[in-house]
Amino acid sequence: MYFDSSTLVFLDGDFMPAEQATCGAYAQSLHYGYAVFEGIRAYATPGGTRIFKAREHYERLHYSCQAIGLPLNYSVEELTEISYELLAKNNLSDAYIRPLAFAATPHMTLTTPGSGNLLMAVWHWGKYLGNQSLRLTISPYERPNPKAVPIEAKVSGHYANSIIASSEAKGRGFDEALLLDMNGYVAEGPGANFFVEKDGELFTAPGGSILRGITRNTIIDLAREAGITVTERFFRPDELRGATGAFMTGTAAEVIGVASVDDVLFETPFEQTLGAQLAASYSALVTGQREPVAVAV
Ligand code: PMP
Repeated sequence: MYFDSSTLVFLDGDFMPAEQATCGAYAQSLHYGYAVFEGIRAYATPGGTRIFKAREHYERLHYSCQAIGLPLNYSVEELTEISYELLAKNNLSDAYIRPLAFAATPHMTLTTPGSGNLLMAVWHWGKYLGNQSLRLTISPYERPNPKAVPIEAKVSGHYANSIIASSEAKGRGFDEALLLDMNGYVAEGPGANFFVEKDGELFTAPGGSILRGITRNTIIDLAREAGITVTERFFRPDELRGATGAFMTGTAAEVIGVASVDDVLFETPFEQTLGAQLAASYSALVTGQREPVAVAV
């Protein structure tokens, strides 16, 4: 349930009932997927409601808007303030925050619209991929070519690919898809990054065809702080054979174990893997039970 009759959203400067928030039938974003968004989480912490890495998320929203030429008329600080206000107005503490920068302008031409709109919604959302280790399958749908729409921009239109990849995997009885890049290397899931544990170390795909997620970066920091070696490198699906384990990371999914990728089963129970150790550190970090990682620069 994303909203009910008492839910408020923020739309273009006003807090209003979600039921009244509309966008016209000729909005450019609706027709062409020309919009960008963020997925952010707030947590109840001993110091009150705290949005995890608000600055990083809203800087990425600004980057995404710039990357596609969509005006965004709010600073990182204003976006953060609106988020806290919207959470308070909806009496939410542990919540998911979804800002969407879009073009409501009736504009059917394939040129940038010249003006932008902002919607922000909040709702309570459990771990996006659940709590059970996932059975993944390599998707027949690849990640988009990085020389098309900038891949590190969270552009709504990219997610048509994610929707069909995830639905196709579920249609074959798996929990989620794992997408390759255009060169056949393992890239990421439809909405989460992917890590592998092998020989006591972790590796994950480098930038290029993936969204280098904020959770991914946090996990890399937590791992390095714990003395775990993490390498960002290209790897093919056959390297998954003999791995100890794997896990996915994302703001919505948080950290979730992977039980198998097609016929490759990870024999070690997730609880005994580095992924589980890092999942616990991540949970402690976001809920304010431990200090942020001091990252060496
Ligand atoms: N990859 C994709 C394609 C995503 O949509 C997401 C979710 N934003 C991620 C990775 C994880 O990113 P983050 O950790 O910043 O949520």
